[in-house]
Amino acid sequence: MANKVRVRIAPSPTGNLHVGNARTALYNYLFARQQGGTFILRIDDTDAKRSTEKDIDGVLVSFRWLGLEWDEGFAAGGDYGPYRQSQRRDLYDGHVQQLLAQGQAYRCWCTPAELDDMRKAAQKQRRPFRYPQTCLHLSAAERAAKERSGDPFVVRFLSPSESTVDFTDLVRGDLSVEASELDDLVIVKADGMPTYNFASVVDDSHMDITHVIRGADHLYNTHRQIPIARALGFSLPAYAHLPLLTNPDRSKLGKRSGAVLVGDYASQGYLPEAVVNFLAFLGWNPGTTQEVFSLAELIEAFSLERVNRANAVFELQKLVWLNGVYIRGLPVAELADRCIPFLADAGLVDPADIDRDYLNGAVELEQERLKNLAEAPEALDFFYAEDVTPEARLLVAKKQTPADSLRALEQTLARLRGLDSWELATIEACLRGLAADLGWKAGQLFMPIRVAVTGKTATPPLFETMVALGRERSLSRMSKAIDAFTGAVAELA
Ligand code: GLU
Repeated sequence: MANKVRVRIAPSPTGNLHVGNARTALYNYLFARQQGGTFILRIDDTDAKRSTEKDIDGVLVSFRWLGLEWDEGFAAGGDYGPYRQSQRRDLYDGHVQQLLAQGQAYRCWCTPAELDDMRKAAQKQRRPFRYPQTCLHLSAAERAAKERSGDPFVVRFLSPSESTVDFTDLVRGDLSVEASELDDLVIVKADGMPTYNFASVVDDSHMDITHVIRGADHLYNTHRQIPIARALGFSLPAYAHLPLLTNPDRSKLGKRSGAVLVGDYASQGYLPEAVVNFLAFLGWNPGTTQEVFSLAELIEAFSLERVNRANAVFELQKLVWLNGVYIRGLPVAELADRCIPFLADAGLVDPADIDRDYLNGAVELEQERLKNLAEAPEALDFFYAEDVTPEARLLVAKKQTPADSLRALEQTLARLRGLDSWELATIEACLRGLAADLGWKAGQLFMPIRVAVTGKTATPPLFETMVALGRERSLSRMSKAIDAFTGAVAELA
């Protein structure tokens, strides 16, 4: 076996990458990068019917979106291929023959109905069901008859005779199960395909995997896999089982927990760097108070020793917070780039024809407030709307009559039209000057102006917003608002 670290992520593709598998992939990736090792992607598709090309693609898209590039494996190539289990049948078959020849596996013709009866009988007697080795104990004549029958059969692994199966987990320490708990596992299904536990052992060995890092939901499988590896004469990899993910109320992480599929994070406007940062903390911490880590910093800081044994609580609020942190940290132009697909989907911009300066100006104003990219269309719509058509009653200044409010807006428009330049300081001086001349508080004047140019009562700071909108757009919106207001004043009075 090579000394160089080789780890793998082995998804059974279902089209969507679950957050738990993404976390497992990240830890494998971080460990490989830090150790100067190799991160391998293998497709566990022994259940070939459920793994279409589209399903595989969906998983790859998510890994790439997270930035977890793999060095070797499916779609990347390497010396240990093919990296898809459905294409490695010959290899598995050879090892099945080996186990049969060694007497460590046997064919089993028990039908699903017979097994069901056995299971029910066990249930009735309140004992755990364990396959009673019926087919192991067939007489030579019975076996020969079964073999001639051509009836479908599975292959079972003969459970080890030693009393316990032990190993030392890098996260959980020494672990042991009674061998009597392990019944004779099916390693080849009736359709001739190997089962996950068997294929995984064969591949991990043939691919020189040094560390198997996976979720604690696989602990029992590890106890199953070790005897198979030993029977085949393989040396064992090191194992590290990662904590299970739960909701804050300790229940299993499920659909109602918010986004649990990586594809959903992307469409809900989370940044991949925030998701990676969030995933890293699902079962690991740096032992310091630092909470924000880039991928490069994670590679540096990560260690399997600091992976927790206790379940990791999945708190979506933490991701929401991290996402805001990353959004605020992006250069404006880059944030604008990332908003474009969302704005285009909402029909606000045409990606082929975007005024970048205008977009950047708008995005800069919303950067503080955006919690995710999916909020961009709603936050930025007034920058792109043809008309903002504010409600007339919102144009009435606080504690002023509709008629006085209208006059104030008319004066505002006249003064703004007279400005030599359209800059923050000029606009501010102009509007503050007018408020003073009117004897109004600044806020009394600014709210109707805000509503006139944006259509909204809550926007980024007014002067900045007017600069970003530009002179022409601001003045024409104001003039339209005044026209509409003029017609409505009588009704409002
Ligand atoms: N295909 C398995 C899964 O997706 C792989 C588990 C393992 O890492 O061995 O859970």
